[in-house]
Amino acid sequence: MRIGVDLDNCVADLWRCALPLCNQFFGKEVRLSDITQWEMWECIGVSKEEFMDYHDACLGGAVVIEPVTEAPEALRRLSQEGHEVTIVTARDQNFGEETERWLDEHGLGDIQLMMGQQDKRAAGSWDTFVDDNLDVCLDLSPSVPLVFLFNQPWNQARSLPRGMVRVSSWRGSTTIRVRQAGDWVEDQY
Ligand SMILES: [Mg+2]
Repeated sequence: MRIGVDLDNCVADLWRCALPLCNQFFGKEVRLSDITQWEMWECIGVSKEEFMDYHDACLGGAVVIEPVTEAPEALRRLSQEGHEVTIVTARDQNFGEETERWLDEHGLGDIQLMMGQQDKRAAGSWDTFVDDNLDVCLDLSPSVPLVFLFNQPWNQARSLPRGMVRVSSWRGSTTIRVRQAGDWVEDQY
């Protein structure tokens, strides 16, 4: 099965790790749960430019980015089981070195990486995809049989279309659900 996985806030726990320094840097007291929209700068109360500068500094090494709990283990397991796992990120190629080093450090150096992918639907043909961006998931949903929306405060929605499932972690059940996605798809369609 071809599994596409977004990197930031699905595998790399970027905002949980970046927020404390962000608060310090901008003199704010924002909690992760306060970031309720994709346009995070609006929740933090800074301009988009200030936010992007900070964001890029984080990707460039200003903060230690921890992996999302059990994400590396889950991706390695899926890959060892023969699934074609690809990390598909909008991160700019300028951060290629840092990104590859981070993946290596977390035992993900053998997983395929696609960077600079603003349009994830155009990036490839997927049987399943995991992303925390609701708009990306909605965009993928008509063509990807099973889309997992990785739960974050900024992607809450009242309802999700058929074929989209919200997951909150990579622990056991999610990994099993991703692994079994092919069977589910056959059941459902
Ligand atoms: Mg993301």
